[in-house]
Amino acid sequence: MGNRGMEDLIPLVNRLQDAFSALGQSCLLELPQIAVVGGQSAGKSSVLENFVGSQKEKAALPSHESPSGAQRPTPPSPPLGRKQYAEFLHCKGKKFTDFEEVRLEIEAETDRVTGTNKGISPVPINLRVYSPHGQRTIGVITKLDLMDEGTDARDVLENKLLPLRRGYIGVVNRSQKDIDGKKDITAALAAERKFFLSHPSYRHLADRMGTPYLQKVLNQQLTNHIRDTLPGLRNKLQSHLLSIEKEVEEYKNFRPDDPARKTKALLQMVQQFAVDFEKRIEGSGDQIDT
Ligand code: GDP
Repeated sequence: MGNRGMEDLIPLVNRLQDAFSALGQSCLLELPQIAVVGGQSAGKSSVLENFVGSQKEKAALPSHESPSGAQRPTPPSPPLGRKQYAEFLHCKGKKFTDFEEVRLEIEAETDRVTGTNKGISPVPINLRVYSPHGQRTIGVITKLDLMDEGTDARDVLENKLLPLRRGYIGVVNRSQKDIDGKKDITAALAAERKFFLSHPSYRHLADRMGTPYLQKVLNQQLTNHIRDTLPGLRNKLQSHLLSIEKEVEEYKNFRPDDPARKTKALLQMVQQFAVDFEKRIEGSGDQIDT
């Protein structure tokens, strides 16, 4: 399916999300969603702002803004955890579960290979990161414009340094100065495009870089995910409805209002959603990339 028509899916999922949370049942069903993970000031809000501004629609992306609009401090990146670990080729079998240890080991290994003068080693350090969640992760590299002159992130963006199944997308958001100077999003997107097209290390990747491309890829991912999870969602809701109806039957004489009514309305919504979705899939010829 082409990109057209998919944009409407995100507001649809948002409506479902709202309906579920109004029922206090957001945990019961896992709706497709996108999580944004990154350290403080990594540029998470900037990436999201670019989306909102260019799509004029609050995407199905969680917001970390407090109701007043003031920013809450971002929690630090979670540790790798027991199921997630990194392993170096030069000390195979030793599992690193802490990113700080990984960083120290890279430094130590670099010193061992090059001596303490931090020279450049022709021997690459081979690092693998294992994670049960790696499957749908898309790496987003921000602040490429702030790299020291003469250095670049080409290896990462070419998915060579820390390969991810879904690869990496580089973006350039507005700097603090741009924000203070009220640079609008259209101008920021144009500047970003120009950055990638004119940078000698990224020019060859320009078509797969930048905010609009990231948005396109996320839309595709989300749509694929919706397509895969929709039947399960429908089944779960059906059986939930059945159990509530049973409950209602039992307590009929004790309850003045019928909780099944709300769930029924919700089920109708999901069914309508499924119909709309299938129509859209049928209506367009080409396949979604997976
Ligand atoms: P968050 O804490 O991850 O949400 O980070 P923010 O989006 O609030 O960004 C922190 C600061 O970095 C802000 O001043 C942004 O203007 C700036 N910033 C974010 N992305 C970029 C970028 O790609 N380039 C430049 N120059 N500044 C950026």
